[in-house]
Amino acid sequence: MSEAKFDVASLSEKELRAFRMRAPSGAPDACWPWSGHRNDRGYGMLRVKRAGRWVDVRASRIAWFVDAGAAPGPLFVLHRCDNPPCVNPAHLFLGTVQDNTADMMQKGRHRPNGLRGEDAPGARLTEQQAAEIRRRAIAGEDPAKLAGEHGVSVGHVKNLARGGVWQHVDGPPYQRKRRAVTPEIAEQIGRLVADGTSFAEASRQVGVSERSVSRVARRAEDRR
Ligand SMILES: [Zn+2]
Repeated sequence: MSEAKFDVASLSEKELRAFRMRAPSGAPDACWPWSGHRNDRGYGMLRVKRAGRWVDVRASRIAWFVDAGAAPGPLFVLHRCDNPPCVNPAHLFLGTVQDNTADMMQKGRHRPNGLRGEDAPGARLTEQQAAEIRRRAIAGEDPAKLAGEHGVSVGHVKNLARGGVWQHVDGPPYQRKRRAVTPEIAEQIGRLVADGTSFAEASRQVGVSERSVSRVARRAEDRR
């Protein structure tokens, strides 16, 4: 099965969980190297079973899908950062076979430039909407409400607020918003960590720093 033919929208919850377990996150601008299997060219791969056969799917393709909330269809998911194992959605963009070839040839000579933002097929937001969502999310509006309003995932809204996607859109500086650790958030962290979620992932999901997550987790540990 060729890379662009695999339908990432067909991934089951279990397969997506397997993806998340191996997909780290870090600083918005940093590369997030896949911790699972890599192919001989260094690309992160997730192995899934289809029709009784194992299929290797590129982790970057799944990362793009999970972030965008839309399947890349026949297009390729390419790396701006030229770092094959990277699964940071901010470093990924969609392109055609021609873009793929041109991109490989241009790497090192030009700033990699692919379809991004609203030019990307399947993009559901205009640049204006993306800027507005970022502004409102940073101002503290409920990400779930913003997601519902615009028909995108909550993860996408949070990523937007952090500047993980749509970085070229003008707007307020996208800084990781520091949230106070309320009892509700502490409880949520406790649940995530008890479920085996990493501190980094819990930090991403809850929107507080990794240090706060580890502090809360330690406190919960002490109480037991
Ligand atoms: Zn990268």
